[in-house]
Amino acid sequence: MKNSVELIGHYGSDQIIACSAWTSTSRELTEEKKSRIPKLIQMLWSDGHETPFEKGSVHFLVNCDIASHIHLLKHRISSLNAESARYKELKDDKFYLPEDWNAKWINRLEIHTCRADFLYHLCLEELTPILGRKRAKESARYFKTYNSQIQSDIMFNMRSFANFLKLRDSDHAQKEIQDIARQMIDLVKNIEGNPFEHTIKAWGY
Ligand SMILES: Cc1cc2nc3c(=O)[nH]c(=O)nc-3n(C[C@H](O)[C@H](O)[C@H](O)COP(=O)(O)OP(=O)(O)OC[C@H]3O[C@@H](n4cnc5c(N)ncnc54)[C@H](O)[C@@H]3O)c2cc1C
Repeated sequence: MKNSVELIGHYGSDQIIACSAWTSTSRELTEEKKSRIPKLIQMLWSDGHETPFEKGSVHFLVNCDIASHIHLLKHRISSLNAESARYKELKDDKFYLPEDWNAKWINRLEIHTCRADFLYHLCLEELTPILGRKRAKESARYFKTYNSQIQSDIMFNMRSFANFLKLRDSDHAQKEIQDIARQMIDLVKNIEGNPFEHTIKAWGY
């Protein structure tokens, strides 16, 4: 299965971010002030006045391989919850196969993953009467491979989302997390009404 991203929620807009910055003077909005929002957003970002961007947020559901999930977890300024093989048996055996590999190695990884999944379920079944289901579940997962896919729910504020994109929508990052970052920014660009239009532009998108 391909890794996938869904945008499940968002809060705020360029206007909310601008008003947060204008709290230092007056939040009262006039049409003239509204027309200054694009320039203000650009100036806040380029001057490093980044806290107003924390007033917007984006929330995603991500289905991805465990290696990419670890990359997501590294971003401490986010909120992440994930499907847990400690609490439930991963029955679906979802896994990712790199799209740029040749057929020979895709085939080998697929065989290896299927065998690992077979052992995962067998280990869980045979160790349950000995260790109890709780311990059997949490330890049988050692058979799961790095390309096993799990679902996570991750939310960023717009300041930490910019940091995530800078680091992960980059050629220095692993291809799979780059793909996830690009799916995320495309989803945000396509929110109806484009509420973060000028914020995203200020980031260079
Ligand atoms: C190309 C690449 C290679 C990497 N290789 C490795 C690797 O080999 N091993 C590895 O362990 N990780 C690796 N990482 C992960 C990396 O070290 C970061 O953990 C990850 O990118 C999260 O970045 P961050 O700290 O900026 O994000 P967040 O944790 O989301 O933090 C956001 C920002 O908040 C501030 N902040 C957060 N916490 C603190 C703090 N405690 N003190 C001060 N400021 C803070 C910083 O300004 C930070 O940029 C790699 C990342 C990339 C992009």
